[in-house]
Amino acid sequence: MNLIEKESICKQCGKPIHGRLDKRFCDAYCRNAFNNKVKRKDEQYIMAVNRAIRKNRKILKTLSPVGKSTIRREVLDALGYDFNIFSSMYRTPKGNIYYMCYEYGFNPIIDTRGIEKAVIINHQDYMGAWQPWKYVHK
Ligand SMILES: [Zn+2]
Repeated sequence: MNLIEKESICKQCGKPIHGRLDKRFCDAYCRNAFNNKVKRKDEQYIMAVNRAIRKNRKILKTLSPVGKSTIRREVLDALGYDFNIFSSMYRTPKGNIYYMCYEYGFNPIIDTRGIEKAVIINHQDYMGAWQPWKYVHK
């Protein structure tokens, strides 16, 4: 066996490939199948995040269709709200953080009795752009 015809294995089906050294697949079918699989995995993550943001938004909209509402965290938990997922953030001048899911968002608060609650709001025009470097600890 010379170097040019060194045997390698197809990345898709695992069968030995004969031919050029840089060949990674036995044929176009295997190449396409492999590339689609990689793309699907990428897309699956994006789609899962998108689904979670949409679900969160729907929950916030249902609980507070207009204006401002304060509800217990347990209500969000019971409805399956995913606190890890949001589309943007808003920080009030006082430093309260709103986790937005599109145009709905909430600010986590703890009341005087120690109960965790969420202040739900709608996006307002005065909410400026998030400034990631403004709050970096120096
Ligand atoms: Zn193959």
